[in-house]
Amino acid sequence: MTDKQRRDFIKKMAGLGVLGIAAAAGIYGAKYFKNEELKLRPPGAVEEDNFLALCIKCGQCLQVCPYDSILLEDLNGKAGVGTAYIDPHKRGCYLCKAFPCILACPSGALDHEKDDIKYVHMGMAVIVNENACLALHNKPVPDSAIDRIYEHTKVLSKKEIEEKKIEDVPNPSEKRELQTQLLKKLEKFRNAKNCTICADLCPYPNPSLAIGMIEKNGGYIPEIREKCVGCGACVELCPTNVLSIVPRATYEEIYKKA
Ligand code: SF4
Ligand code: SF4
Ligand code: SF4
Repeated sequence: MTDKQRRDFIKKMAGLGVLGIAAAAGIYGAKYFKNEELKLRPPGAVEEDNFLALCIKCGQCLQVCPYDSILLEDLNGKAGVGTAYIDPHKRGCYLCKAFPCILACPSGALDHEKDDIKYVHMGMAVIVNENACLALHNKPVPDSAIDRIYEHTKVLSKKEIEEKKIEDVPNPSEKRELQTQLLKKLEKFRNAKNCTICADLCPYPNPSLAIGMIEKNGGYIPEIREKCVGCGACVELCPTNVLSIVPRATYEEIYKKA
């Protein structure tokens, strides 16, 4: 990477609010400069260069994803046109038990040997906007933040989204059931005193090993822990954009070099 590319990258990360945390954590290792458009890949993705070579843009992984988390890079994409990726602001990955995306991938881009949570590592969550955290200021979750997630699902009709009577929604498919279960969990934060959505709805099997709430200045903030796999669910669900994911980064790279 040239000095100019490096400067542009830092400027861009600063714009995203990632610079502070990245600088503090010392993650300016060569591998994060290699690709300015490093994308969050689905679970089981092989190393980025191999992924770009192997992904045949068939869309099998996104067809079987019950949460509709996986997208295909469009024609303007700079990181491999047509390749599979996840935009956690639109929909995070919810770490399905059997990882149907991995099993469906015919090309080896998603490694069939990695179809277990113990092998999944997509990236690492980072706090990019601590002051916006509702818990820090002991603020409740606004209704609009919950309503917003209804728009992220593709399994509900317009009427069902408008009415939000999620208890009454029939579940003819597993996909619909999983997505409505997520909304039901989120509904519990309507009228709740404090926001703890990121920590409570983290889909890691033992979420307190990945994220927890810690006291700070009379309120609370999330603390990212060693087992975070970078699935991005917390990024999607956070009402105030406190969190982001550094694709493929490890806990050691982000937090132990701080
Ligand atoms: S199934 Fe595999 S090859 Fe097909 S789009 Fe998904 S990652 Fe790429
Ligand atoms: S903290 Fe949990 S929800 Fe957030 S990226 Fe890590 S594993 Fe996923
Ligand atoms: S989801 Fe977590 S980070 Fe976001 S406002 Fe709530 S407690 Fe704070």
